[in-house]
Amino acid sequence: MEKSNNIIESIQEFIQIPSYSRNEKRAAQYLMDLMEKLNYDEVNYDEWGNVIGFIEGKSEETVLFDGHIDTVKVDNQKDWENNPFEAVIKKDRIYGRGTSDMKAALIIMVYAASTFIKNSSLEKNIVVTGTVQEELYEGVSQAKVIEEIEPDLVVIGEASNLNLCIGQRGRAELKLKTLGKNAHSSNPKLGVNAVTKMTKLLNKIDILEIVEDEDLGEGILEVVDIKSKPYPGHSVVPHECTVTIDRRLLPEENKKSVLKPINDLITEIKRKDNQFIAEVEIAVAEDVTHQGKIFKTEKFFPGWKYNVKDNYIQNILKGLNNNGLNTEIDYYSFCTNGSQSAGKKNIPTIGYGPSQEGLAHMVDEYIEINQIDKAYQGYISIIETFLKG
Ligand SMILES: [Zn+2]
Repeated sequence: MEKSNNIIESIQEFIQIPSYSRNEKRAAQYLMDLMEKLNYDEVNYDEWGNVIGFIEGKSEETVLFDGHIDTVKVDNQKDWENNPFEAVIKKDRIYGRGTSDMKAALIIMVYAASTFIKNSSLEKNIVVTGTVQEELYEGVSQAKVIEEIEPDLVVIGEASNLNLCIGQRGRAELKLKTLGKNAHSSNPKLGVNAVTKMTKLLNKIDILEIVEDEDLGEGILEVVDIKSKPYPGHSVVPHECTVTIDRRLLPEENKKSVLKPINDLITEIKRKDNQFIAEVEIAVAEDVTHQGKIFKTEKFFPGWKYNVKDNYIQNILKGLNNNGLNTEIDYYSFCTNGSQSAGKKNIPTIGYGPSQEGLAHMVDEYIEINQIDKAYQGYISIIETFLKG
């Protein structure tokens, strides 16, 4: 009981420190202090500002528990019934930004792993990491942790309603561009209208066949914005038009296979229209972490799915159910850091966390207190299974 009070108190304190992406520093410090207080063998801070806590075992094998420190912003605080950074407890729930996604889960992982500290017969290493900027670039900062730790199993603590997630769709951001030629719009024949050229392409993209996975769903392709130049267009035929597409990725898809159908459409239109100039590419972002590390990344975060029959999955599932946790196999519908560990590095990865995906990023985000204790037991069960395997 005392332990569970400590966990709840730590969750509240952690929620009370805002940690928007790029501004995780104070929350990262809190996490480090907590790990030190709980007597972790070693607590590090890497050049990206990820926090990494070690519990050392006798062999080289390592399980990595990964939770991200950052949260999405609160844009409309007046719509919240409770202050999103007060972490008030009402109706057996803790309310606040990051309660479900996923600062509570991270604290629970830190406590669950700590029960194995100073155990001289511990056979394998347990590492807990608080990663940064997941909400912007899934898995980009986790890549640095994986390079250092080389884990044998990764546990993503994102909300799974205490089910065992063994896959997710990935995500890519595509940039489409058409080029035209300026002219006075009273005499458009002298120019080439980049916006009408873009609509030609979009009409064809709209009827492209969507790929589908029986467990993960559709490889959705959704136009999310459109811009023309010059803007606003005062009596001028626009010379450029750009569109952003959000594309959800299935496990087998790669950059080439995602771009090909759109490149094929561009070629097809060009054949009949010699004024049609268009290109498509994966969007690239440049950013900086709270620790001052500047990085550049393509916005391509792969999907992944493991076989339910895989031994390690069956063993973890059995362990959870033997502990009375009523766990079922499931799949995330959002994108997680698993895009890196599983999607890019092919390291055995599972998702297991308290609360529901549907509460992430919402007004009045909360976590039910009874999920906290179960997640704590669940994480311990996962570690015990890993130690036995
Ligand atoms: Zn999350």
